[in-house]
Amino acid sequence: MDLSRFPRRIYTTHPTPIEYLPRLTEVLGGPKIWIKRDDMLGLAPGGNKTRKLEFLLADALAQGADCLVTCGAPQSNHCRITLTAARKEGLHCHFVIEERIPGTYSETASGNNFVFRLMSVDSVTVVPAGSNMAEEMELLAKKLRGLGHRPYVIPGGGSNAIGGLGYVACAQELQQQFFELGLVIDRVIVGSGSSGTHGGLVAGFVGNHIDIPILGVGVSRDPQDQEPLVYKEACAIAGLFQNAFVIPRDRIVTVGGYWQPKYSLPNASMIEAIKLFASTEGILLDPVYTGKVAAGMIGMIREGRLKTSENILFMHTGGATALFAYENVLR
Ligand SMILES: *Cc1c(COP(=O)(O)O)cnc(C)c1O
Repeated sequence: MDLSRFPRRIYTTHPTPIEYLPRLTEVLGGPKIWIKRDDMLGLAPGGNKTRKLEFLLADALAQGADCLVTCGAPQSNHCRITLTAARKEGLHCHFVIEERIPGTYSETASGNNFVFRLMSVDSVTVVPAGSNMAEEMELLAKKLRGLGHRPYVIPGGGSNAIGGLGYVACAQELQQQFFELGLVIDRVIVGSGSSGTHGGLVAGFVGNHIDIPILGVGVSRDPQDQEPLVYKEACAIAGLFQNAFVIPRDRIVTVGGYWQPKYSLPNASMIEAIKLFASTEGILLDPVYTGKVAAGMIGMIREGRLKTSENILFMHTGGATALFAYENVLR
């Protein structure tokens, strides 16, 4: 897949490392666990959104935008990283924040929220749970246009076809690393939320003939609701390549349950997973995404669903900034 014809800004100068996790592997007594350190991507601090924004910001600049409008939850990593990219490019940046759990937005909150203020976000519009975020962002963009600005609207999580190219690039990076390391990975485990990461990886694997199964762990939906989103995202990306390859529906596989009781709300297995990664390997996960994805991986190892003979690659998508907004539940 030739990505060179898509405009791109470069926010990370090196491939992120793939590391073996010997102590975690030993404690769990299951498959060999490797980790892809996408928590070490550029921007402050980087995570999976960095890869999507390389293509989205290049598109925004090509269109002559002078400000960004995006949306997320009160502890949104996507908003934080978008704001960082805006500052780096000299653009203004506006958020629409969905208060998914009523009463949880606080201007003085810690974690990502603290960073929003530190980087002096240009405006924050808080809307109630269940609002139509695309409409809310369009309203704000219209207002900004009325003031003479040229806004560029980025959907939640940066998950559209252009953003998904970031994870096509990641698939190509992985292919090169597997080759250089002589590493045979049997399964990739990734968080599946707004779906640009999972969908981009699937499109990149299919388009580059990488036959490794990808298992998505839902962070907000069970498979019947999540898989169609990921499929739609992967097909939209294939569309950018004139459908030179076709996404088989059965390449999209997710597991549910681990996100319960609700998106972003803690559960016991997430807390266990965060403590285990930190105490065995010194790796910080986050309470909203990677902690629950790791809980899914640990759960499937314990159920014998992931075989001891396998080499599995856990995608660390970042997010640890939110840890500090959850100190009370993690202590
Ligand atoms: C956004 C996010 C995800 C989920 O990625 P999607 O592309 O939205 O599915 C996973 N992990 C972290 C840390 C995130 O911020």
